[in-house]
Amino acid sequence: MTVHDALDRPLRDLRISVTDRCNFRCVYCMPKAVFDRDHSFLDRKELLTFEEITRLARAFVANGVEKIRLTGGEPLLRRDIERLVAMLSEIPGLDLTLTTNGALLPQKAQALRAAGLLRVTVSLDSNDDAVFRAMNDVDFPVERVLEGIEAAAAAGLTPVKVNMVVKRGANDASIVPMARLFHGSGHILRFIEYMDVGATNGWRLDEVVPAAEIVQRISRELPLEPADPNYRGEVARRWRYRDGGGEIGVIASVTQAFCQDCTRARISAEGKLYGCLFARRGSDLRALLRRGASDAELAATIAAVWRVRADRYSEIRSSGTADLPRIEMSYIGG
Ligand code: SAM
Repeated sequence: MTVHDALDRPLRDLRISVTDRCNFRCVYCMPKAVFDRDHSFLDRKELLTFEEITRLARAFVANGVEKIRLTGGEPLLRRDIERLVAMLSEIPGLDLTLTTNGALLPQKAQALRAAGLLRVTVSLDSNDDAVFRAMNDVDFPVERVLEGIEAAAAAGLTPVKVNMVVKRGANDASIVPMARLFHGSGHILRFIEYMDVGATNGWRLDEVVPAAEIVQRISRELPLEPADPNYRGEVARRWRYRDGGGEIGVIASVTQAFCQDCTRARISAEGKLYGCLFARRGSDLRALLRRGASDAELAATIAAVWRVRADRYSEIRSSGTADLPRIEMSYIGG
């Protein structure tokens, strides 16, 4: 049965962070100055086990979840992630996807598909090598992410979606070149407005390139027209190339907040449940699991948390919210 929250939003999607570690140090997400050698990441025993994740996933499905996205940190760093995918793919009717930086996809795409993963989203912030290396801050080349995208497509993890976070002055000059690169490729490029998640990236509003400007810049060179959403609550607004070269998406979480349609719950790698990317406190599902709660108890707790959910941070974002403490995206899962 589908549970609805205090603002009548159904629970439909679940993002599960499987690790808070990453092999990239993207400047807007895990800046090196903070996530350095001294940073304490979660211990292995603090992470939910695959069995625990699968039990929780079933309890969420019992409450209406239809789609699960594995994320992190970098989910492909979690050892034997294919085994988790295989376990989750046994849940009937579930749309199972994963978001990755693509670095390990050439080795892992086939095994992930064979384990039952349906699609992947790959993050790539520029096709200009110097710009991309500066943004990931570990000198990782564009070429290897492109190999990952092609490996995913060859394995049938399609359509591959490509996420580009746009930060003014850092990679906005890559908007049109990225559109050209993926135009007609069958992959769906999605532009994401740079968000004020976490407290470490020094976010400023003037670094956000509004979705409307992104669409305008592309449309000048490759004319676009709006396309209908695939379903209620779809995060990305869809735009189609007039020449039949496919589509793009724009995720305007800053300039056109979509909280009223947000159907997503998130579980951190240590099993805390959050109703919003900008939440301050999570509910400890791991404690419940490790104290021996039954499946019915798990499902009832999740429903109880969701029923009182009233988060709508992006709609009330203002100078007053800027200084509120919040958790990092690498912890809660992007
Ligand atoms: N490591 C994986 C990856 O690179 O896709 C999964 C986790 S990552 C946190 C998920 C997505 O969040 C990536 O596409 C990343 O670019 C995006 N992201 C991280 N910080 C962001 C921010 N401040 N604003 C907008 N998107 C952000």
